[in-house]
Amino acid sequence: MKVLMSEQILIIEDEPSIAELIAINLTHAGFECQRVLQTEEALLLMADELPDLIVLDWMLPGKSGVQFAKELRRDQRTSSIPILMLTAKGEESDKVTGLDAGADDYVTKPFSPKELVARIKALLRRYEVAPSDKPLVVGPLALDQSTHRVVFSDRDARPIEIALGPTEFRLLTYLMQNPEHVHSRGNLLDHVWGNESYIEERTVDVHIKRLRDALALHDCEQMIETVRGSGYRLSKVGRHES
Ligand code: CA
Repeated sequence: MKVLMSEQILIIEDEPSIAELIAINLTHAGFECQRVLQTEEALLLMADELPDLIVLDWMLPGKSGVQFAKELRRDQRTSSIPILMLTAKGEESDKVTGLDAGADDYVTKPFSPKELVARIKALLRRYEVAPSDKPLVVGPLALDQSTHRVVFSDRDARPIEIALGPTEFRLLTYLMQNPEHVHSRGNLLDHVWGNESYIEERTVDVHIKRLRDALALHDCEQMIETVRGSGYRLSKVGRHES
């Protein structure tokens, strides 16, 4: 059964007192928070699961928040995560730079925690109603990116929800966006996991197996074909039907 989860906010801020102030206020408002001091740690967390929103400090040790925002926007996997940027700078030109880099909103330090929470809620609402999220449909499967649901329609067209982990969900999303194409493991790593090079190609096989196991409950695991020597392909002809 799918458990209703509170929305997860990733806070990337190198000043512990500010990170704590934000986390306390967001937790109080019903969000789940994770805190990291710099972007490398953020990437490690995000390799496994993506947050619903990122609070990103501009000035960080190592990679700057502006640079990181640009990278998140360029990567298909992370391009739709809302980003709220924090900075001590208050100049109009800095605000433009931050938004150009891909931030969705911008709060200047020192900020009122109440206002920050309100802005985060507003940002999440804006994303919830994004009109571009049309369900993907391949054969008996329909996937809705906005609600994170995958529905299988049986022979009588009765919809049955399929529970998937976040990685399997992203994997299926990518396969459904590109049905009938053969994807190498490297290609899937790039598009589903992003370009974290420390992830091994056999990770793909693990998640393909989990995805097939979930689909097997509805007799449609054969939609994901192994193409020998090449990779994987999602095909609607795999439909279990005579
Ligand atoms: Ca900082």
